[in-house]
Formats: sequence, C-alpha cells, structure tokens
Amino acid sequence: MNILVVNAGSSSLKYQLIDTDTNEVGAKGICERIGMEGSLIEHKQLVKGLKVKIASPMNDHADAMKLVVKYLTDSEYGCIKDMNEIQAIGHRVVHGGAFFSGSILMTEDVLAKLEKCKAFAPLHTVAHLMGIKGCLDTMPNKPQVLVFDTAFHQTMEPEAYIYALPYEYYEKYGIRRYGMHGTSHRYVSAEMAKLLGKPIEETKIVTCHIGNGSSITAVKGGKVIDTSMGFTPLAGVEMGTRCGDIDPAIVTYIMDNEGLNTDQINDLMNKKSGFLGISGFSSDSRDLETAINNGESDEHYERAKLAVNILKHQIKKYIGGYAAAMNGLDAVVFTAGIGENNANLRELVCSDMEYLGIEFDVEANKNAVHVSNAVKLSTDASKVTVYVIPTNEELVIAKDTAAIVKSL
Ligand code: ADP
Repeated sequence: MNILVVNAGSSSLKYQLIDTDTNEVGAKGICERIGMEGSLIEHKQLVKGLKVKIASPMNDHADAMKLVVKYLTDSEYGCIKDMNEIQAIGHRVVHGGAFFSGSILMTEDVLAKLEKCKAFAPLHTVAHLMGIKGCLDTMPNKPQVLVFDTAFHQTMEPEAYIYALPYEYYEKYGIRRYGMHGTSHRYVSAEMAKLLGKPIEETKIVTCHIGNGSSITAVKGGKVIDTSMGFTPLAGVEMGTRCGDIDPAIVTYIMDNEGLNTDQINDLMNKKSGFLGISGFSSDSRDLETAINNGESDEHYERAKLAVNILKHQIKKYIGGYAAAMNGLDAVVFTAGIGENNANLRELVCSDMEYLGIEFDVEANKNAVHVSNAVKLSTDASKVTVYVIPTNEELVIAKDTAAIVKSL
C-alpha cells in the first residue's frame, strides 16, 4: 500500500511516500515558507536518486499539497503515475491530549477532539489542522489517519502522570504528564524487543530519544510506565534550547528579578536555555563536540563540556531511576540526531554503570555513527544490552495508516 506520510508545521510540510509492503520510501521532501514570500519545495525521488529544489508560491497548506502531488506524479521526478496510487494519508500529530491512546481514522468527531488539543500545543495543532484541511482540499476522498506523539504514553498510571498540584487543575485544565516522541519510543522499543529475542511483554527497556528535543521513556512489557517530557515538551533533560526540569520556583524568581512577563520567561526557557544557554554559543551538539575536541585553547571549551556533562548526568539518573521503577532493566536504546550520532555522549552516559549491569563496548560505540541499522554497543557479557537504533517515525505512521485503512 502506498501511504503519504505528512508532517505539517505552521509554515512547512514534510512528506514521504512509503510503500508499506516493501517499507521503501519512493520520494520525500519538504515545502517551506508556506504563506510567506520565497516559498519553495525540495523534493527527492529516492529510487532514481533525483533531487529538485524550486521556488514556488504557496499561500496555504492546500497549495503545498497540490505541489507535493504534482511532484509525486511528475514524469521525471515522480514515483507514481497518478493520485489513485496513493491509498491513504497518515499525519504526524504532536499532541492528542488524553483523547487518543492510538492512531485513528480522521472523522468529524476526531477533528472536534483535535480542536480541543489546541490548548496543549497551540502552534502545532493549528498547523496539523491546516495540513489535514490541505489534504482534504486536494484529495477529498482519501482516508486520512492521525498518529499522535502522545499516544504511546497513554498507558502510564496516574502515579506517573499526575503532578502534585491541587488536583482541581488536573480536572479543570487537564494538567498532567502527557509525554512526547511516543511514535519514536514505540518504534525503537519494539525493535529492541526483537533484538533481545524475547516477547515484548517480558522486556524492561529504557529508550533515550536524544535530539534537538529529547525524551527518555521507561517501557515495561511494551507499555510506557514513565517518560521524561511532561505537560509540554519543555520538561525532562536538557535539550538544544530548552531547559528541561528545573526547580519551578526559579520561574517566578527570574520573572520578579528580571521583570519578565509570561511570554518572555517562556521564550527564555524554550529558546535560550539548554545547550545554547549553558554553552553561550550554540544549540547544536556538533558545535559543542568541536569545541570540546579543540581542547582548552577553544574559548567555548569549558562551557561546552559543562553543557554536555549536564545532559550526561541527567540521562544517567533517568536510566537508574527508570530501572528502579521497573524493578529491572534489560536494555537501553539510543536514538534520534544525537543518540544516533554522538558516540562521545553515549560513552559518557554508559561509563561507570557496572553496578546497573551495563558493560559498554567502547570500540563498537566509536564506530557506530551515521548508522542505518541497529548496532549493539554493549559487550556479550553485559547483563543489560545497549543499542543504537535509528528511529523511523514515518514508517510507524505509514504502517498504522495502512492497518487502519485495511480494516475499513
Ligand atoms: P529534532 O529533535 O529537531 O528532530 P534531531 O533529532 O535531528 O532534532 O537532532 C538534532 C541534534 O542532533 C543536533 O544537536 C545535531 O548536532 C545532532 N545531529 C544530527 N545529525 C548529526 C550527525 N550526523 N552527527 C552528529 N550530530 C548530529
């Protein structure tokens, strides 16, 4: 089945056409600056290895979808003859609140519930609604399926998702832990269970999705029991520009002392903190690595090292904490931009973890960068297995969409 996977942002739309029988990506691309001057599409035909980047006016997401279909069916750059070869569309949706614990076919009722999710992730949800509408305008009769980043985390017990605030705020506003990156955690934990050669019901896995945004999840028996992101994606470990968990009293303290309003403090915690805030020069882990590798002569060395060490320390604590919460640990998985490529951070995290049963294979780890397949990072004697597994959220979205459409 050919599934068009769509990831709609407020001014961008990423897409992939995936054949779910072969898992092959026929084409993928991105429309950028939708609704702005200078909008453009970058389209890659993967079978022939062709690439095109063309400026093209796009007033809205419907215009973007028309362009996507045009290139997918193009005689030179396309990979299908016409739109009929697309069986369904699968959307990545960032926040499904407590409404959605799995992927679901888009209906009027589903859209009404998604509208309510604007309260949790306003920018993302509005963008997703625009993407869905754009698909409806361009391909009115195609089934559309929504796949939520929050869904996999819906198995948490209240003891893991309720904050120790007055309970009425949970009831009134739905303030609770939701978690993010669920599609990625679901994919890599399932792959890890296969590699362990055990039924997933018998596994205890910690999945570390470490990218620009990062989250760590405890998956026991295939079900999430806890995750580091919370009510919003600001919580958990230090990220590219987000602070992660801090003492909540710091928020009002800085607001009072710096005279900041809510928008300004939100901006500070979301965009000026994390790697960027600590290092003072970059949110990108590659820049921090360069500064660290340059040594003390580099003006950014000390704080780049501090930024990375803070993340290392936090990840270690999550792994240990989740092992305690699960009463055991079979495997740790690293994934996403940093998890898949930053061997130094993985080594820092997994060193001195013998007590927990991790015996790290330093050489295997050094070689495991830009991997396209799962690579084992622990020794054969290690009680806990450690892997790097490249995530593939788009494939999960395509597979879920195909399964729902087949059952119609
Ligand atoms: P997002 O959360 O936005 O999806 P990614 O998962 O792409 O982000 O992660 C971005 C981070 O991953 C950056 O800090 C970047 O330095 C790092 N990263 C991405 N690709 C590589 C690479 N090839 N080598 C080293 N680091 C990488």
